[in-house]
Amino acid sequence: MKFSLDISEAKSYVAEILGPHKTYKLERTFLDPVKTTRKKHHYNLGDGVFEASEAGDRRYFVVRNGRSYPMHECDLFDSLKLGKKYGLTFGEIRAKHGTMKTTATILDAANTIIEEKGLREREQRIQQRVKEQRKEQRKRRRTKAATSQCRDIFNGSDAAVTRLYLGALEKKKPWGPIAAALFRAQKSSTRAEDYRGNSVDQAYDRKADVIKRLCLLLPELETDLGIGWGWGEDALESYAPHVLYIDLPNGQVSFHSTKRFEGPEYPGEWDGKHASKGRILALCDAIMQNRQCPVCGGVPPEGRVYCDSECFKMRCCERANRKT
Ligand SMILES: [Zn+2]
Repeated sequence: MKFSLDISEAKSYVAEILGPHKTYKLERTFLDPVKTTRKKHHYNLGDGVFEASEAGDRRYFVVRNGRSYPMHECDLFDSLKLGKKYGLTFGEIRAKHGTMKTTATILDAANTIIEEKGLREREQRIQQRVKEQRKEQRKRRRTKAATSQCRDIFNGSDAAVTRLYLGALEKKKPWGPIAAALFRAQKSSTRAEDYRGNSVDQAYDRKADVIKRLCLLLPELETDLGIGWGWGEDALESYAPHVLYIDLPNGQVSFHSTKRFEGPEYPGEWDGKHASKGRILALCDAIMQNRQCPVCGGVPPEGRVYCDSECFKMRCCERANRKT
């Protein structure tokens, strides 16, 4: 049985809805009227879901056995969304709807199929599995971050592991925060050296950001930790002529920068060794593994507590002073 529909002629259409559409939201077939009389289009509609537009007013309805039932737009779109999530076609939902009570909505039809096929449980099982896999992965990363040598983290490309590592390092006060900032500065420095061409500017901008943050951190820690630092110039380097020097307990480290940020003039000179990276990584390792020299915070040789006889002597003096 057909449902007969008359709509006014001006700017109007009737379309059957076939399913979702990537660009236009709905895949539609525009129908031809069977007859056009004075200012009226006349349609004969079989079972289906339809959209009718009359003078800019759009409405949705479903036709079953020659009768039409209004349909909420959100009901229609929610059923399409459910269909997409659970892999149901609109035809399937529509067919199910045809077998249900006339009061049932198209969304009820979609939900009924999902119930009957146990799709929700299956989806939950999949999600549960994904959740467990993610948890497992997080655990692996945390273990890796906690047990790796700094060089492996530095050379590795797993950003999540690096974040976890630096987070753990920052918690090891008082040296952790400065070591993490140095790690970041060295990483951006190594990156900037690796880049060529246009991206070199970007890399140096990133490096400048990291160095700026380092310069904000240094004044807080220089007196507590006895870190000497400051800015110098490198006349041979025209692109990044400013140099930030920092005296760590295990030696001097330095970074070239395109900009000069807050900080004093560096009183010393470059030590002539390209040793920044090695020193920073060694300091990070010592902090993470709780084997910093108790006197200077530096990096003692393997199996030793103090850096050298100087630190050991100072420790003895400290003890002696405390006794008197
Ligand atoms: Zn020491």
